[in-house]
Amino acid sequence: MSVSSGPEVVVWDTTYACPLRCSHCYSESGRRAPRQLSHEDMLRVADALVTLDPRVVVLSGGEPLVVKGVFEVAGRLARAGVKTAVYTSGWIMEPWMATELAKTFDEVIVSLDGATAQVHDRIRGRRGSFDRALSALTMLDAVARERRRRQRTPLWFGIGCVVVRSNFPQLAEFCTAIAPRYPELRSVTFNAAVPEGLASRPEFGHFELLDDAQVAELTSPGKLARLQELAPDSVRVFATDNGSLVMRPNRFASRADSPVMHVEPDGEVRALSVCEGTVGNLLEESPLELWRRGTSRLQDPFVVETLSAVRTMQEWAEAVRRMDYHFGSQEVRSRIDRRSVRTNPPEFSALAL
Ligand code: SF4
Repeated sequence: MSVSSGPEVVVWDTTYACPLRCSHCYSESGRRAPRQLSHEDMLRVADALVTLDPRVVVLSGGEPLVVKGVFEVAGRLARAGVKTAVYTSGWIMEPWMATELAKTFDEVIVSLDGATAQVHDRIRGRRGSFDRALSALTMLDAVARERRRRQRTPLWFGIGCVVVRSNFPQLAEFCTAIAPRYPELRSVTFNAAVPEGLASRPEFGHFELLDDAQVAELTSPGKLARLQELAPDSVRVFATDNGSLVMRPNRFASRADSPVMHVEPDGEVRALSVCEGTVGNLLEESPLELWRRGTSRLQDPFVVETLSAVRTMQEWAEAVRRMDYHFGSQEVRSRIDRRSVRTNPPEFSALAL
């Protein structure tokens, strides 16, 4: 990857609308205006992304399945030869959507943040979300089985878990109690929560952000081997601190830039994937120029100074808070100020017990 060739991965938050209220939500979806584009403009953004020739475009959000015409948008990317992946909570999944997802996307990931309803529903902020996620997995499993029976291209569908302190003790259960229910399931991925958005709040850091020892354990070869051993043979287990997808401060010195372009629902391109602050809109300017402008933010003296001292997860969260406030608009700062007022302390009080 280089700034002359564009990003390897594009993450496009297609909407900020979402039926869930996850405590770690990086995009604060469901708590603010969706900023969703018209269908025609979404197709224009898709065309702009194609010119960057990324390896994969990941549709995220918010909940991509609430976006009307999302399958056509993904189809546009796929027809241009770009791999597509989508993240869904499964909350609104219906059988026809599972069929369309399988037809359109190369990879479908259902978010599951607990191996039990009690843990998942508390993290995801809505009772019943565990049952709906499992139901979505059942639908995808049926579609995948049917595709295999008809000898069509296999559907790669997986479970994505954002790892926080309250689900850290359940990782083995994902492999022994959840994965075996879906014979066609291909992957279980454990992603350490990245301290961005709501996950950068001090109270989240206090109660839910993994500490450094937990991150080291999560990503150690021994832990991964043990989890893989527990999972069915057909399921691959991955664990990551997200360092390969988002800029990681303690790797900052050795990286020229981030491999990820992060696009907001209205086509605005973030300067840094994990932080607030944008550099322009894909509907108005050259995508490659926006990519160059974004990556050049890594040389900004404030960014260099803020990140250079970061060694721990808590320091990473503090650095993100500083950069969000520094680069964010007045609207962004007001939103950040409201986060603590809104969520402090009931959301985490149960987690402290
Ligand atoms: S489902 Fe995703 S977008 Fe919605 S609140 Fe949770 S993390 Fe945010």
